[in-house]
Amino acid sequence: MKATLDHVGIAVRDIAAALAFYRDALGLDIEAPEEVASQRARAHFVPVGGSKLELLEATAPESPIAKYVDKRGPGLHHITLRVDDIHAALAQLKARGTKLIDEHPRSGAEGGLVAFIHPSSAHGVLVELKQSALSPQPLAQPGDSRVQRVSLGDMELVSLTDGFFCLDGGSMFGTVPKALWEIGTPADARNRISLAMRPLIVRGARTMIIDAGMGDKENETFRELYSVDRARSLDCTMAEAGISREEIDIVVASHLHFDHAGGFTFRDASGRVRPTFPRAQYVVRRGEWEDATHPHERSRAAYLADNYVPLAEAGVLQLVDEDATIMPGVKVRRTGGHCMHHQMVLIESKGKTAAYVADLIPTKAHVPDTWIAGYDLYPMDTLGAKKQFVKEAMEKDTLVFFAHDPAIVAGYVREHDGKRRVVPALS
Ligand SMILES: [Zn+2]
Ligand SMILES: [Zn+2]
Repeated sequence: MKATLDHVGIAVRDIAAALAFYRDALGLDIEAPEEVASQRARAHFVPVGGSKLELLEATAPESPIAKYVDKRGPGLHHITLRVDDIHAALAQLKARGTKLIDEHPRSGAEGGLVAFIHPSSAHGVLVELKQSALSPQPLAQPGDSRVQRVSLGDMELVSLTDGFFCLDGGSMFGTVPKALWEIGTPADARNRISLAMRPLIVRGARTMIIDAGMGDKENETFRELYSVDRARSLDCTMAEAGISREEIDIVVASHLHFDHAGGFTFRDASGRVRPTFPRAQYVVRRGEWEDATHPHERSRAAYLADNYVPLAEAGVLQLVDEDATIMPGVKVRRTGGHCMHHQMVLIESKGKTAAYVADLIPTKAHVPDTWIAGYDLYPMDTLGAKKQFVKEAMEKDTLVFFAHDPAIVAGYVREHDGKRRVVPALS
């Protein structure tokens, strides 16, 4: 998270004496005082460069400021950090086990939002987070591309993006009429819908990435055809998450379509295509490898050899024949449907479960059984695999990651009166 020092709060017993120092002796300007009714206090802001001092004076004996001064004497009371997205900041802190005084932001001065972190988690300092009313809101359109973290038992899951692209809405929803799908998924004038590419990092016994988006080897014609927007590329979101390419031990492919495997390789300065993650073993299902290296008329457009053939040449390819545990708590399971050997990744730690379902359920709109993409080569297999998975996910309260949903990263599937829906998590 990016944070800027907004102000330092100083609890004051005698405001006249404090002003004699800060205003008169230091020669600083003091802004007109502000009443903070909820704290029964008056705040005098003192601008100092890009941030401010806040002299806090109690206006009633029961004021928390009065209590603070009685107990500890006047002095440093809190520091306030300004963040762009306070909801995301709190979610990130919570995922890391930080003790929060406010789990949810409350309204602060000038229409902003604030939340306090407990001093026991901040090395003895009371830290206030603040999102001012003028802060840019999290990106809502065309999609949410924030890096999001969640802990799952002993593991940490980090959702990244490789940007967005567009596909024909009709193709994405198969036999579902547009009159139904367009209610939840707006299409542009050319009937295209926006889709995210969301690779997932799993940090456990080792560091794994599941899928890697589209990468940047394709030309302008390709990028235009799919309206590719990689402003929030995998490189960019990995850097934001503080994860380097070298840290990745294992790459798992749900399947080898370009929107999942494009980022497996990159073209170096000499024009050679090489594995993106230099230390990683790349885990691919053998059947999918066979299909991708021998595409037929219908599957050809999605399989681009440069995305995966160089892995075999570099000796980093590991083919798996069946459902297998890839690292402790992480296993792959074949779903078929979308393509014959499409697989999902199931993650489990300390009784908590998560699933990366890739193109079995590409967006939250695809959660109902019959909402199956026209791209799927074996739609009846998708139907069977989805029914089985959703039942299991509801029983185990599995956190489901949607590889292509433009708006949400993950959620829990719920069913009520035969109606299925997704309760978003991590947003
Ligand atoms: Zn696919
Ligand atoms: Zn896909």
